[in-house]
Amino acid sequence: MDKELSYGDDYHYLPITSIKSGVGQEVTSDLFCLTIQIVNVIFIGQPNSDNWILVDAGMPKSADTIIAASEERFGPKSKPKAIILTHGHFDHVGAIVELIDHWGVPVYAHELELPYLTGKQNYPDPDPTVEGGLIAKMSPLFPNEAIHLGHHVTKLPSDYTIPSMSEWRWIHTSGHTPGHISLFRERDRLLIAGDAFVTVKQEYLYDVISQKPEISGPPRYLTTDWQAALESVRSLEALKPLIAITGHGLPFAGEILTHSLKQLADEFDRKAVPRYGKYVN
Ligand SMILES: [Zn+2]
Ligand SMILES: [Zn+2]
Repeated sequence: MDKELSYGDDYHYLPITSIKSGVGQEVTSDLFCLTIQIVNVIFIGQPNSDNWILVDAGMPKSADTIIAASEERFGPKSKPKAIILTHGHFDHVGAIVELIDHWGVPVYAHELELPYLTGKQNYPDPDPTVEGGLIAKMSPLFPNEAIHLGHHVTKLPSDYTIPSMSEWRWIHTSGHTPGHISLFRERDRLLIAGDAFVTVKQEYLYDVISQKPEISGPPRYLTTDWQAALESVRSLEALKPLIAITGHGLPFAGEILTHSLKQLADEFDRKAVPRYGKYVN
């Protein structure tokens, strides 16, 4: 492996999972969502086509699972045109080094996320004191050191396009992290929200294990700018998505999505912002 391709020193497997781990769901004919332990990775592209991309890169040590799922969907030895990262948290880049090594494809992220992906800056420490359940308490175990992708990662095009996917646009949805992005396709109002909002209460172990569906703000223990997080949820709500796939939890669609996303935007202070924690002022 080349030298500029490695994880931080605190990288490790996390034995935390959910009943949906390993379960894949075809959300539209050209979008497949695979749950790895507690996080979703998304394959965009028609089955058996060679024009597809991967959104996010799963939990630590999940590269074999992601590659197997991609070969099942797109054919043996198939590889994506690119990997797009919604952000660089450990549960969204857990297999990125092995995937780059295996596929040799470019990775794209927002410019403001690049310091965390190129060894320049660590993420702030997760906050175990934040209001929330057991996962928040466990969060000091989560890797937060910058990873090293060197020249393998580049900033997303500044015209909001997604390389190789002409129908898709990226939207800057900061708050959870500075360079967090979501992806949107106007044609069917399909939203990939990343962790800008999620569809399971990510702080609560029981909810995560059972994947109890509920629209919730960004995972609290890692969110550092709540004002920006609110503005991001408002901008996603204004898009009036018909289907939303988030970083954690099940896809949401239709009336329940419209209603609960509006409620989250309207009552963000009460529903999303923790009452206490070190990143709340
Ligand atoms: Zn995150
Ligand atoms: Zn996440």
